[in-house]
Amino acid sequence: MALARNPLVGLVGWRGMVGSVLMERMRAEGDFALIEPMFFSASNPGGTLPAAVAGLAKTDTTLHDAHDVAKLARCDVVITCQGGEYTKAVYPKLRAAGWKGYWIDAAKTLRMQDDAVIILDPVNMPVIQSALAKGVRDYIGGNCTVSCMLMGVGALFKADLVEWMTATTYQAASGGGAAHMRELLTQFGTLNAAVRPLLDDPASAILEIDRQVAATQRGLSAAETKNFMVPLAGSLIPWIDADRGDGTSLEEWKGGAEANKILGRGPGFGAPAVPVDSICVRVGAMRCHSQALTFKLKKDVPLADLEAMIRNDNPWVSYVPNTREATVRGLTPVAVTGTPQIAVGRLRKMALGPQYVGAYTIGDQLLWGAAEPLRRMLRILLEQ
Ligand code: NAP
Repeated sequence: MALARNPLVGLVGWRGMVGSVLMERMRAEGDFALIEPMFFSASNPGGTLPAAVAGLAKTDTTLHDAHDVAKLARCDVVITCQGGEYTKAVYPKLRAAGWKGYWIDAAKTLRMQDDAVIILDPVNMPVIQSALAKGVRDYIGGNCTVSCMLMGVGALFKADLVEWMTATTYQAASGGGAAHMRELLTQFGTLNAAVRPLLDDPASAILEIDRQVAATQRGLSAAETKNFMVPLAGSLIPWIDADRGDGTSLEEWKGGAEANKILGRGPGFGAPAVPVDSICVRVGAMRCHSQALTFKLKKDVPLADLEAMIRNDNPWVSYVPNTREATVRGLTPVAVTGTPQIAVGRLRKMALGPQYVGAYTIGDQLLWGAAEPLRRMLRILLEQ
């Protein structure tokens, strides 16, 4: 169903971390010129739009109640970054009320439903187009780690070269939300303050500094570890999201399930799933997710060919030559953060055999991992 000119687009969750990045990107790309936005709020219905987004409203400057199904049902498209609980509460009521609009969502709630598509158009535009032709109306952003990985090395999957892949992830604090980023920085501050006098004294003993840092980490208060539960600054946490009770985390399960759904593989699709497994680790980075990947390819492909496939897959791949100098400058969260580039490097054949390839990817998880696929889906709808 083609959208009318200037369709009414309901925006929910625009104040959160993903939502704020989405607003920034939509503003930067001129998306608001093509739509009539209607802003919703779960916490301040009836209020007036705050200055940050007030200029984006055209005729309607009221904050509508995000739980008001009748109001939502007026929209041609609803884009929500409000979170999974909101989706669970509102989406079924909206559809039950007969709403036929397009639902674009950042939350995981609907991702694996049969009639929902996980959107990452540079990787799966054919899947999206086929769903649009069939009248599918639910388009859901993927898990940030999966989306960033596929933006970097999707070329190898598209060419059906991958027998299996494993990942060890290095995921940023932002994956948990704004409060997690604040907590990480607060913890760093506490650690620094604890050893400041010793750091200022060049003659102080490093082992004494180390002892005091460890003691401070172990002594962090409940308030200082409220979100991560344990210290993250100067440490890491090799478990992300729920415990599935079978030795895997939910984040690890998403890696395999969502990657295959995005690629249009597995049950319900014509092609078998590619085994993808990982160990997901939270590290003290701000908003870039990094991943060390190991591929077993279906055949021995020259490294130069693999590099060319990855480089040429999409305009956002930033290929980093596998040298020390290029890697330490270009293949780090600090180099990538705030940019739409997905850095791919450390590409090399492994000692395991000619079909085994290692690679490393880094992406800003709030851009390609969250906001960007949502606004691009809106553009796809506007342009169909
Ligand atoms: P978030 O920052 O917690 O925002 C969600 C909502 O919380 C906001 O829309 C806002 O709703 C409310 N809120 C309450 N206090 C707030 C405050 N002080 N500042 C801003 N908002 C506040 O959540 P998020 O990280 O954006 O995630 C939203 C959804 O996207 C989730 O389903 C998440 O799983 C998914 N997702 C997140 C990421 C990520 O990296 N964080 C990546 C991919 C997908 P009201 O304005 O209505 O109160």
